This record gives sequence, structure tokens and C-alpha cells, in this order.
Amino acid sequence: MSYLPWRRVGSWHCLACGECCRKFTVILTTYEYALLTNLFGQRVVELNSRGDPCLRRVQGVCVFQSSEGLCRLQPLGLKPLACKVWPFKVVEVKNIGEAGEADLFIHGGRAYRVYVHSSCNGIGHGSREELVEAIKEVIEIKRNPHRPQLYSTARVKERGLSLRGLTSTMAYALSARLVA
Ligand code: SF4
Ligand code: SF4
Repeated sequence: MSYLPWRRVGSWHCLACGECCRKFTVILTTYEYALLTNLFGQRVVELNSRGDPCLRRVQGVCVFQSSEGLCRLQPLGLKPLACKVWPFKVVEVKNIGEAGEADLFIHGGRAYRVYVHSSCNGIGHGSREELVEAIKEVIEIKRNPHRPQLYSTARVKERGLSLRGLTSTMAYALSARLVA
């Protein structure tokens, strides 16, 4: 598995398959760590082998993934940055010449090298236009993590969730998973 230059990907659309939440460990920022442990307690996090704070995985799955494979944090605006930008990798470059023909992406007057992780099941789905919109969105999310996410994720939402509703629903779901 590796990162592919975005122009070689052709098209992309998140299928909400949930595979990425089963394959990878999510490293949290200090802010995300503090926020999530305040809301849900220490049991939703763990340290990786390098001592980085991560979302806990239980039986190989992120504790916040629902049984349908959806992210329970997304409808609440609490999805970690690492998850928001997945499966894209964006690196700003000072000069256009630093990027290759296949990975160069210009947005907002700035130049970037952009890649898509080859393991994502969404590659080859959707359209070129959607891929371009998703990349623009990821660039803007990296500048402002609170920016709404429309193109760079599945447009499938868990219905009827509020923070209060989630904390009680999650308390049950999490305790069931974490005790298992
Ligand atoms: S980002 Fe890719 S792997 Fe993750 S849910 Fe969407 S399609 Fe599936
Ligand atoms: S926080 Fe959400 S998007 Fe991130 S790994 Fe967990 S379930 Fe997936």
C-alpha cells in the first residue's frame, strides 16, 4: 500500500465502507485528546508504541465506529483531523517546480503535492470533479480543522444524534465494546 499522485487516481468518492477505520490507528492532536477524554473518559484512548495518544481500537476497530461502519463522531463535529483528511496526503510546496506533473495541485494561489492512499476503496468511484472538490476541501480543513466536510467524506449521516444523546448512547455502546 502506498500513496498515489492524485492525477493517476482519476476519480474518487467515499463509499462509507469503513475499511479505513478497521485498518489504521488514529493519532490524536493534544486538543482532540483533551476534548474526547473529557467527553468520553480515558477508555476511548490509548498510546501507540511511540507514546502518541491514539483512538482506542477494540477487536481491530476504532471504538467510535458504529456497527454499520459509520463514524459516530462525524455528526457531532468531533471527528479527528487525521480522519478528516484521510485518504489524502497534502504537502504545500514553495515553488511549483518542487511538485511533479502528476501530484501538483494549485488552490488559493498556493501549490501543493497531493496524493491518495492506494488502500482506499473509493478510488475509481465518483468523478474527477468530486476528487478535485475533495482535495480543495482537505487543503482548507488542514488550514482550519473546523471547516465543514462535504466532499472528502461519505454523505451518509447517523440521524438524530446530539451530543447529549450520543453520550448516553455511546456510554452503553462503548461500555459494551470496551468490556468485551
Ligand atoms: S475513505 Fe475510503 S476506505 Fe475509508 S470509508 Fe471512505 S471509501 Fe472506505
Ligand atoms: S473516529 Fe470515526 S472516522 Fe476516525 S477511525 Fe474512528 S470511526 Fe473512523
